[in-house]
Amino acid sequence: MRIHRLKLAAVAVGLSTALAACGDAGSSGSSDTPDVEVQEDAASQFEEGSRMAELAESGEITIGVKYDQPGIGFKGATDDAPVGFDPEMGKVLAASLGIAPEDITWKETISDNREPFLQEGEVDLVIASYSITDERRAIVGQAGPYYVTGQQLLVPTDSEIETIGDVEGTEVCSVTGSTSLDNIEQEGATPRGFDTYSECVDQVLNGSIDAMTTDGAILLGYAAEAPDDLKVVVEPFSEERYGVGYSSDSPEMCQWITDTITAAEEDGTWAAAFEATLGQSGVETPEPPAMDECAAA
Ligand code: GLU
Repeated sequence: MRIHRLKLAAVAVGLSTALAACGDAGSSGSSDTPDVEVQEDAASQFEEGSRMAELAESGEITIGVKYDQPGIGFKGATDDAPVGFDPEMGKVLAASLGIAPEDITWKETISDNREPFLQEGEVDLVIASYSITDERRAIVGQAGPYYVTGQQLLVPTDSEIETIGDVEGTEVCSVTGSTSLDNIEQEGATPRGFDTYSECVDQVLNGSIDAMTTDGAILLGYAAEAPDDLKVVVEPFSEERYGVGYSSDSPEMCQWITDTITAAEEDGTWAAAFEATLGQSGVETPEPPAMDECAAA
């Protein structure tokens, strides 16, 4: 047991270092992302006074993404911009407003500040492994889903946890403000909440917590960073439908987000973005999910 803990502690340092330093295509999943076509004369394409016209006229947009989830949203300490499937969706949306990738202002969001960031106008969009839920849709807008995954567990490779029934009586960490923390409590584990998934995975690696739980897509990104030490187990036990968050003050954004992502699904941009990001963590490129209809703005 002691040897096991020492070995994992060493890996914890290694993984943190690798995550902090990684800006390269392999580890953060950013190889060959598709070029997006930036719309010319974009402001004239949108109804005057709409939030899309305002953003297009200003030529600026601020998008909240995760910075510590390889494959989904990741930014190394020395990187200029985050990489991952979520930033790719952000680039597609910005391009339709005539805003080039280099003109996007990226802001780190953690799970717990996504709604306040939208409500306070801190960001224009949240694209951050952000599951659509009724509770969230009651206070912010969420268009989508643009991707569907499900909750699983990340454990040390020599862990005896194999099925969800095995978590009874174990300590499992996740992130405050996530659907994952709520769900695991119902499975009989002792939940431990952290601000970020990187803090949580470090606890699993140093042996102080038995498992980490969240969406399979996020866990596969971490497992791909340390395949000798971490594995993803358990059949998905929830359905997480990722949506793009926007302010409920601008309901017209729903149809624009839905139409723009649907077009990216149809012209192959969505699949190319997936393969270059989550695909690098070993997630197979799925058929894009059908998007929800928007309520009349
Ligand atoms: N998708 C889940 C959620 O939105 C878990 C992942 C996360 O915390 O971002 O709560």
